[in-house]
Amino acid sequence: MLTNRQLFLLHLGQTSASPMMLEIVRAKGVYMYGPDGKEYMDLISGVSVSNTGHGHPMVVEAVKNQVDLYMHLMVYGEMVQNPQVKYAERLAGVLPADLSSCYFVNSGSEAVEGALKLAKRITGKSRIISFINSYHGSTHGALSIQGSEVYRNSFRPLLPDTFLAKFNDEESLDSINNKTACVIIEPVQGEAGVIWPENSFLEKVRTRCNDTGALLIFDEIQTGFGRTGRMFAIDRFGVAPDILLLAKALGGGMPLGAFISSKEKMSSLVSNPTLGHITTFGGHPVCCAAGLASLNVIIAEKLVEKSNHKSELLKTKLKHPLISEVRGEGLLLAVKLIDPEYIHYVIAHAPDYGLILDYFLFCSDAFRIAPPLIISEDEISKACIQIKLLLDDAMNYATKK
Ligand code: PLP
Repeated sequence: MLTNRQLFLLHLGQTSASPMMLEIVRAKGVYMYGPDGKEYMDLISGVSVSNTGHGHPMVVEAVKNQVDLYMHLMVYGEMVQNPQVKYAERLAGVLPADLSSCYFVNSGSEAVEGALKLAKRITGKSRIISFINSYHGSTHGALSIQGSEVYRNSFRPLLPDTFLAKFNDEESLDSINNKTACVIIEPVQGEAGVIWPENSFLEKVRTRCNDTGALLIFDEIQTGFGRTGRMFAIDRFGVAPDILLLAKALGGGMPLGAFISSKEKMSSLVSNPTLGHITTFGGHPVCCAAGLASLNVIIAEKLVEKSNHKSELLKTKLKHPLISEVRGEGLLLAVKLIDPEYIHYVIAHAPDYGLILDYFLFCSDAFRIAPPLIISEDEISKACIQIKLLLDDAMNYATKK
């Protein structure tokens, strides 16, 4: 009989040339467990998804209650479903007033697709500006605006009329003109290796959009729900977009995405043509129930407020000869090493030290730390001890080579 790991390679479509191949049978809090009971501390939250940790009792209870009531009823937007309504209302309560109309979809990429269509529909224009080293997803539209030629080149032709500007480069904003439908930007670039905006860059983007009539889309799919030390980067930088994109932590561990705008803007998808965006499963009631419970936990347990101190603690403790910088604020950090040649060894051997770490797509000299926001101070201390042992190991390995 084949093992699960063999079946994984045989029957699951793969796009990674070197998957992690770690078999996990259960997860709780900040830990995942292998079949042999080995414990792994999740320091990446499934890439910024499990912000309230694994199996939070409030989230699990919400899922179970909703499954007992109903699962799928009808394609999105026809029937009044309590979990969707309650979650959309709750989100409107924590977002600026102009972001009160929420279109739920299934993933981040689909939120991006919906937002690009909405911007084209509202402005009647087609030019889309995004940024070098941005990541917005893997579907055709999202890929067309992705900030890396490496990933796009083999899939041409892609969407026409797209342009890559430079993040944190004011001159680059001249590319936003009166033919521009929208500018899509991660307020803090995640896959670029946690790059924060400098010199009021987001304000400058906002102003240029206002001057040219382009809509501003914030992709907070990775930064949302507490990763920048505030609930959203919008709060952190005091700049609001016309359209906000959420996914990842939005579903509290279940698949959910959303593009959010004003009621007025969103209503342009109702006519010419009607049904301007359609999804069967978007806003699945179980996912909305989980997401709402997770947001309630984040607020009730003051996880965002506490995340700033936890971030400082990580930065203070992560001192090692191999570490040249710990970049970011809040619980989305890039740990830069003195030489990129160590990165692969460190990430590949992290499980041996009971840790789960990860790469960034467009940053080869740093690894990612984005633990569940519920991580305790003791767990942070334990994680940092293990990371430093792992780095010692990497250093010894390099010396012996
Ligand atoms: N936008 C950002 C900033 C992301 O980090 C991601 C995923 O990593 C996406 C969009 C795409 O989301 P999904 O993988 O749910 O399609």
